[in-house]
Amino acid sequence: MTFAEIVYIVIMVYRGNIQEVSYSINGYDFGEGLSCNAMAKAPGTYTITAHTLSRDGYSFTNSISVTFRFPNADEVKAKYLSQMNALWFKSIAAANETDTYEFGLAMIINTTENGDPVYDKKEFQSEAFSYSDTEWGVEFTGLIAAGDHIFGGMWTIGLFHTHPSWQHYGDEARAVGKSTEDEDPGNGIPAWVMDYHPEKGVYAQGLPAITPRGASLARNSPGKLEQYGGNGRIN
Ligand SMILES: [Zn+2]
Repeated sequence: MTFAEIVYIVIMVYRGNIQEVSYSINGYDFGEGLSCNAMAKAPGTYTITAHTLSRDGYSFTNSISVTFRFPNADEVKAKYLSQMNALWFKSIAAANETDTYEFGLAMIINTTENGDPVYDKKEFQSEAFSYSDTEWGVEFTGLIAAGDHIFGGMWTIGLFHTHPSWQHYGDEARAVGKSTEDEDPGNGIPAWVMDYHPEKGVYAQGLPAITPRGASLARNSPGKLEQYGGNGRIN
């Protein structure tokens, strides 16, 4: 089961003369009533049991175990693809004759008390780069590493960044696609970079590259998404 997805579990309770139904999750009491709304606040295996009180005393249902894992790369991509595309077009709109930017997106499962939406995100914008700069990058800051089963947490499940818009630049081509500085985030976390389509540009020094003309052609085209890193957060 994917962590942060809603699942419905039905536990059959013997019908006779029940005065009270209560639940436990991993042995901890978890409220009473005819249904039990609980969110997995961290990945792991949860064992759910219903307890009933009747004239004959307490009894227990069988236990149900549910294992929640982090979403894999394909699932993360499906959740955030439209936001990745939106940041690409935002980067094109933000660039002008002198400045260009990279934008970043941290994809986060937020199960803290105020975690709404659970599939949360943080956006980042780089400082302004000039076209003569040779290194670009956007910094991801303030990401909380993890959380726990009781209080929840903010779990980064994917990272994304754009490469700078080149449409206002006059002369040279630049390489497109994942760069050697684009490092695997580790812990299985998948990452994506969006850049121009090399087939719309030219090849410079053996590298796929984009020219101003190619960038102009690509102005209204979606960027090309390239994936690297892991195939889904591990822990
Ligand atoms: Zn990059």
